Amino acid sequence: MKIVLATSNSDKVREIKDFLKDYEIYALREICEPFEIVEDGATFATNALIKARAVHAKLRELNLADEFIALSDDSGISVEALGGRPGIYSARFSDMNERGQITGKSATDASNRAKLIAELNALNLTSSPAFYTACIAVGSNLGDFTAHGFMHGTAISKERGSNGFGYDSLFIPKGFTRTLGELDDATKLKISHRSKGLELIKYVLKSLERKFER
Ligand code: IMP
Repeated sequence: MKIVLATSNSDKVREIKDFLKDYEIYALREICEPFEIVEDGATFATNALIKARAVHAKLRELNLADEFIALSDDSGISVEALGGRPGIYSARFSDMNERGQITGKSATDASNRAKLIAELNALNLTSSPAFYTACIAVGSNLGDFTAHGFMHGTAISKERGSNGFGYDSLFIPKGFTRTLGELDDATKLKISHRSKGLELIKYVLKSLERKFER
């Protein structure tokens, strides 16, 4: 059983490959021409399933669904002082207006961090409790499955460190004094929301593997 990742985010691909070392894993672009998937769900789980199902449908179209399963990750950061925003809109945060409508298509990790900093500054805050969520979804011939992972900590209003991606230089995990941007990859892999979700999904992978071998 091989795994194709329903994401073109190279940082996610790297972290998932690092965690699932025992599996043969392919990025989407190695299997087919990447195609647009509209993530219009209202939760991490819905969006993760949309991605896993879309890639599994593509596997079926390519007659590869007996060999591969699709695995996706939908994730983001929720900041308490911002009422839980950006949440599922983490990747598009700086494209949103005050009313929460998406108004552009130019958001980058840097522009999203700048928006988070600006919103904390506007509230005269230098930090706020926050947490990351990851929902991992699997699309397979034997059904769809999901598992969530969380990482709690503090979002801060000044960037520190350059490791990781996304909001990592603005996030101090609970029990640490350094941001994920200052911590090494191995430490993040032990504690991250993504790893926690993948840890649970490993049980699904083990079961599917047995079925694929028959
Ligand atoms: P998605 O690709 O729609 O799931 O969006 C995920 C977004 O959430 C990313 O673009 C990042 O901004 C943020 N995010 C998710 N996981 C992480 C992480 O591990 N570190 C930093 N940012 C993350």
